[in-house]
Amino acid sequence: MDFDLSDELIAVRDLAREFAEKEIAPTAAQDDKAQTFRGDLVRKMGELGFYGTMIPEAYGGNELGALAMVLITEEIARVHSAMRVGINMQIGPALTLLQFGTDEQKNKFIPGLMTGETIGCFAITEPDAGSDVAAMRTTATKDGDRYLLNGGKLWISNGPVTNGGLVYAYTDRTQKHRGMSAFFAEWDQPGLTRRTLETMGAHCSPLGELTFDNFPIPTANLLGKEGDGFKICMWQLNQTRLNCAAGALGVARAAKEAAVNYCNQRSQFGQKIGEFQMNQDSIAQMIAHEEAARLLVYRAAWLADQKRPNNLEASIGKYCAAEAANFAADAAMKILGAYGYSTEFPVERYYRDAKSYQIVEGSSNVQKMIIAQDALGYRKANR
Ligand SMILES: Cc1cc2nc3c(=O)[nH]c(=O)nc-3n(C[C@H](O)[C@H](O)[C@H](O)COP(=O)(O)OP(=O)(O)OC[C@H]3O[C@@H](n4cnc5c(N)ncnc54)[C@H](O)[C@@H]3O)c2cc1C
Repeated sequence: MDFDLSDELIAVRDLAREFAEKEIAPTAAQDDKAQTFRGDLVRKMGELGFYGTMIPEAYGGNELGALAMVLITEEIARVHSAMRVGINMQIGPALTLLQFGTDEQKNKFIPGLMTGETIGCFAITEPDAGSDVAAMRTTATKDGDRYLLNGGKLWISNGPVTNGGLVYAYTDRTQKHRGMSAFFAEWDQPGLTRRTLETMGAHCSPLGELTFDNFPIPTANLLGKEGDGFKICMWQLNQTRLNCAAGALGVARAAKEAAVNYCNQRSQFGQKIGEFQMNQDSIAQMIAHEEAARLLVYRAAWLADQKRPNNLEASIGKYCAAEAANFAADAAMKILGAYGYSTEFPVERYYRDAKSYQIVEGSSNVQKMIIAQDALGYRKANR
């Protein structure tokens, strides 16, 4: 077993770290407060090839692999978690097109996602369909050479700004989840109403509600066959889950670094607060949870790079990383006291941003369900 990163992976990680510190960090607090969507940074990350590590060169990628994606993502999330969400919105649709798209679809849509010209998204969730994806109500009805979408999606990252992404809808509700289909939608057309949603964190990742009123999608934009949507959706979530897990590692690391630095600066009762055993206990636990999660996330990425199934390992990694991020953000908040609670310091942002990792790409409960059902033999995760 080799725990060393190759020179190439170290170089990629260092490039992402430098980019995050030079280009994202200086305005992260201000962008968060102003809830600014940084399309310029999305395009710059595209120029650096951050979205293309699992995409062939023919479509604008660089094929550096899943572990490269994890390393890049962790570095970006460490500085600003909301910018990490944007990475997933580019990678998720691109990987899904690569796996299920026709040559025409791949050529037409993946390069724009690589450069950031296309601001991506994936629209699954609805008011009555969260973890229970099959409960969605949006329909896509064939009308000549197009489908007409009716219904609506909720909590869609990049919803207010996306110009192209995945959407899932029923083409035949009578078939239950086997009647769901997946599409690549080009959003800038009539028939779509957008509403921006306010949330506690990830403020630079705009969240939206999309309402469809006979919104047209060409039949040429159907992924796979009619009825493949649920299978495609589950496949897509396993990919985007890994990116999410890497993002959680970044937040865990940022919170730990803030806590360690503060312990070495702040004095109370005539000594550095790092000398108090209760603060040491917090720091030791933060480090142990973060390091364990990192190894699990790297293992899931490594399996992807070996072209081996990793659904179970991605779920374990995402669950542990999300919990590690929340533990670390909570512990850092306690260590920094009022300075943690203050909006003048970044720890409260880590705390707000960490929560999303327990909800998205399958909540922590859903990950535990996948893990336990696999162990109990009810439903194998790696099929
Ligand atoms: C910041 C953010 C960004 C998002 N971005 C997107 C996006 O880009 N695209 C998109 O489609 N959606 C997105 N979502 C929606 C997200 O995917 C859903 O919130 C998530 O799937 C959970 O659904 P829910 O919130 O409706 O919770 P519910 O599914 O209603 O769950 C409520 C609670 O019950 C638990 N629960 C549910 N089912 C089970 C079960 N079987 N066993 C045990 N516990 C269970 C959950 O863990 C949770 O604690 C985003 C959400 C957030 C907060």
